[in-house]
Amino acid sequence: MNKIAIFPGSFDPYTNGHHDIVCRGLDIFDEVVIAIGHNSQKIRYFQVVQMKQSIESAFTNEPRVTVMIYDQLTAELAKDYGANYLLRGLRNTTDFEYENSISQVNRYLNQELETVFLITSPQYASISSSIIREVHKYGGDIKNFLPYQLS
Ligand code: ADP
Repeated sequence: MNKIAIFPGSFDPYTNGHHDIVCRGLDIFDEVVIAIGHNSQKIRYFQVVQMKQSIESAFTNEPRVTVMIYDQLTAELAKDYGANYLLRGLRNTTDFEYENSISQVNRYLNQELETVFLITSPQYASISSSIIREVHKYGGDIKNFLPYQLS
């Protein structure tokens, strides 16, 4: 049976830190689905369809990665997709506190679901989407934080 992992997140934007988690996830899983959570009521900084295309452009030679946009419970998405794993990244204890709670809830909602955490590589530990949005908003150059070219 194929081991399929969903990597859910806002990815506003998808960064080198996220990319590192996916690339390392491919050593563990047969397929990784990058699932961009998007609630149409919420305003994003980077447009969601454009972000999907940007992420896809970082994986043109990797058929084991799929990128999708979703607006439902992650635990339900995993069921629909036949995925038994969620992939998440951990940078620090703040991430841990949050990730611990959501992984318990996801397991409650879908007993088949195992969340697998990868500790961030040290060079990406200080990268967060919110800081990158802020840098971009005030005209800073963010290209070294992203695994694709912004269009
Ligand atoms: P969410 O809104 O679900 O927190 P994010 O897009 O911020 O979505 O993050 C998705 C996942 O990637 C989370 O597990 C988060 O901890 C992880 N992550 C974010 N930035 C990094 C990074 N620099 N290194 C490793 N993991 C990261």
